[in-house]
Amino acid sequence: MSHSFQTKLLHNRHKVDKNTGAVSVPIQHASTFHQADIDSFGKYDYGRSANPTRGALEETIAQLEEGTRGFAFSSGMAAISTAFLLLSQGDHVLISEDVYGGTYRMVSEVLTRYGVEHTFVDMTDLDKVKAAIQANTKLFYVETPSNPLLKVTDITAISTIAKSTGAWTFVDNTFLTPALQKPLELGADLVLHSATKFLSGHSDVVAGLAVAKDPVLAERLAFLQNSFGAVLGVQDAWLVLRGLKTLHVRLEQSQKSAYKIASYLEKHPAVKKVHFPGLTTHPGFTLQHRQAQGPGAVLSFELQNEEDLRTFVNQVEIPVFAVSLGAVESILSFPAKMSHAAMPEAERLKRGISNSLLRLSVGLESADDLINDFEQALKQTTRSLDLEQRRVYHGNLR
Ligand SMILES: *Cc1c(COP(=O)(O)O)cnc(C)c1O
Repeated sequence: MSHSFQTKLLHNRHKVDKNTGAVSVPIQHASTFHQADIDSFGKYDYGRSANPTRGALEETIAQLEEGTRGFAFSSGMAAISTAFLLLSQGDHVLISEDVYGGTYRMVSEVLTRYGVEHTFVDMTDLDKVKAAIQANTKLFYVETPSNPLLKVTDITAISTIAKSTGAWTFVDNTFLTPALQKPLELGADLVLHSATKFLSGHSDVVAGLAVAKDPVLAERLAFLQNSFGAVLGVQDAWLVLRGLKTLHVRLEQSQKSAYKIASYLEKHPAVKKVHFPGLTTHPGFTLQHRQAQGPGAVLSFELQNEEDLRTFVNQVEIPVFAVSLGAVESILSFPAKMSHAAMPEAERLKRGISNSLLRLSVGLESADDLINDFEQALKQTTRSLDLEQRRVYHGNLR
């Protein structure tokens, strides 16, 4: 019998421990495993290579992403960096231009030293993507929706182009998770995650995951995971497993609130622009609807200027003001100084990540409370005060 995603989160091979009946995956701290026979080692020999607790998480994420094999790393960047090690000197990467700041830094400041070339491209524009392909292009690296502008890339179209040139497609699925988007089913070869975000969901663990579709690619990644060694510790693997159990309800609730908040912000005169693929006015709305089950729970919005942004951040009470996203508490962040601080200002502005842009990851608070909080904070912005003054002035003339 096949189950829905919601049920699969709870009902899998690790639901009950075979040895004890425990309904929670045991945390196996062993770094090494006794071998009964000099000629044939057991499934586990050394903790870096494999561990049962980490293995439970790796198997779970592989099933949820409909892949063949999963890998758990010590952070999202460890997963992404290890995946980039699949490339060799002389290879070229085509990469989303508004990619996560840490990935930008890895590609532009580290890989270049090893002779791996890259071109940043607007992945939402297929003509630009095709024009940027080189004879040595080995990888199309996609983040959709992108961070922080929530631009939507057509995963099927990109992986079709990639396949025709013999290149891989990797998708960073952090923003949507397999609850809403399954890149491997859309043609991607590898899915990457910062499990620090929605997958674990409680701002209490840093972790990364990767899932491969092709067993040969999976074998190569397993080799690199063991060679590079940036594996996830067992306590943290357990925390991600626990977070996963509530992924469906958390995302469903946060997404519902995100719709409400995005619609509210879109109508507010102090807000210049809202980026959220759930709004019909978003250029990626139709595509997002086609390739994913929903827009997710992250949105960004622009105020009139940096002064208004500073006022808003100072006035707002409910969300934490912090780096990161995808947690039970709403997180407000300032991409220019946080997620994209690693990007030179000129590059950042070219990509539309201005000093008046804020990103909001919607948590589990009441949407109405969040909206009331934003309302009182937006009232203090110069734009609102201007409008208020004009209203009073015109009122006095009457
Ligand atoms: C946070 C994040 C990463 C990096 O993950 P870490 O767990 O912080 O190393 C990569 N991609 C996206 C989209 C992210 O939001």
